[in-house]
Amino acid sequence: MTEVSGNECREKHELEKIRIDHSLAEELKDLCEEEFFGCYQCGTCAAGCPFIEEMDLTPDEVIRHVIMDKREVLSSKTIWLCASCYTCAERCPRDINITKLMEALRQIILRNSVDKTDMSCITDEELKKIPQIAFVSLFRKNIG
Ligand code: SF4
Ligand code: SF4
Repeated sequence: MTEVSGNECREKHELEKIRIDHSLAEELKDLCEEEFFGCYQCGTCAAGCPFIEEMDLTPDEVIRHVIMDKREVLSSKTIWLCASCYTCAERCPRDINITKLMEALRQIILRNSVDKTDMSCITDEELKKIPQIAFVSLFRKNIG
């Protein structure tokens, strides 16, 4: 049996509360005005992504999940690992801005008051060591 941490349990519970009265693609289109249905799954986005080794879904798989309205993509590590470097968006032959899609997926979660980072887990020692700008970026990306 797979072990599930307390944090993962809490996140799963919170994600279940996210409203599902629209398809994922409709919701994302409202948030980022991108059209994903032109994706022909060539994998160019995945090939250039610097974090691909750490991701549980490749960027092309993220798009496939969206097209198929598979909401489990919202539990994916990938959307939080994305560093918004725009490499995928620059290289996509269909001109799909995957970076904006990743951001919109994060927004769906954050707008439902699900914080991705639990600040109480950061130790005093880490607070002293980590540069303030890193916290600013972290708040922008992970806190709703
Ligand atoms: S590069 Fe563009 S067309 Fe190719 S898989 Fe990625 S999103 Fe789809
Ligand atoms: S924007 Fe995100 S998904 Fe695209 S290449 Fe960069 S890290 Fe990977």
